[in-house]
Amino acid sequence: MSILEKILKSVVLNEASITEKVALSASVFKIRLQGDGIRKTNFIPGSFLRMGIGIGKEDVAMKDKIRSYSIWNINRSEGFLDVAIATHSNGIGSEWVKACKVGDTVYFKNKKGNFLADDTADSYIMVGDLSALSHLYMINRNIGKDKQVASIIYSQQKSELFPDIDGGSPFDFYELEQNPSDEIIAKLKEIVPTLKGKKMAYIAGDSRLCVALNQFFRNELNWETKLIKTKPFWNPEKKGLE
Ligand SMILES: Cc1cc2nc3c(=O)[nH]c(=O)nc-3n(C[C@H](O)[C@H](O)[C@H](O)COP(=O)(O)OP(=O)(O)OC[C@H]3O[C@@H](n4cnc5c(N)ncnc54)[C@H](O)[C@@H]3O)c2cc1C
Repeated sequence: MSILEKILKSVVLNEASITEKVALSASVFKIRLQGDGIRKTNFIPGSFLRMGIGIGKEDVAMKDKIRSYSIWNINRSEGFLDVAIATHSNGIGSEWVKACKVGDTVYFKNKKGNFLADDTADSYIMVGDLSALSHLYMINRNIGKDKQVASIIYSQQKSELFPDIDGGSPFDFYELEQNPSDEIIAKLKEIVPTLKGKKMAYIAGDSRLCVALNQFFRNELNWETKLIKTKPFWNPEKKGLE
């Protein structure tokens, strides 16, 4: 392992083993990580992992050694957590998740980020693609009971979208092409007037959609910025966004 790789490993710090790998659909795998570090993790709903998926692989460029994946589920007393990784990118992360096996070691670091569960609203609209689904499930489970939640979760094939960790299906699924800003804005014009009380939006996934919807909520609906939570998960022009 090179010196640079050792430095990188110290950035991702924690070590865990893969104890479960399940294909959730044709394009998503659930990976369970088990390790002592997870018992001590200071977990906040909406946080994610920086995973050192390329560490130890000499043919992988430095910039491609780390990828971000959301914590879908965590059980600190038993020392495990689950992530759901989509394969649409065909990048290093996608190759890694297809090839990884139970028993493999994974290096990771928990990151709080700024796309966290906020329970201060009465009603929520959640929008995202396959890559953001597990994150939005986590947010949905942590905004408090009896909240009004509307959603537009989409993928190119509806069958790729998977239920939550407890088997529940709290979201509405749609079959849409990439970057479907116009279709989603048209649906939002129907949905938003039905939301009651203090409203909040969570938008994640395709960066182009995050930009378009942020503008729509701010400029057309005049929502306050702090009520529009967006997190670009990927950008067609870039690799390994964080
Ligand atoms: C905070 C955060 C949390 C995230 N959580 C998750 C998660 O839980 N599950 C998950 O699957 N992803 C998640 N992502 C997205 C994931 O990190 C990116 O999709 C990442 O680029 C995948 O790495 P890769 O090596 O497979 O592809 P890259 O090498 O990064 O990209 C290769 C090409 O594919 C494109 N691309 C990347 N992702 C997608 C995609 N989803 N659909 C279509 N094209 C894509 C890129 O634009 C690029 O052109 C998260 C991102 C962030 C920032």
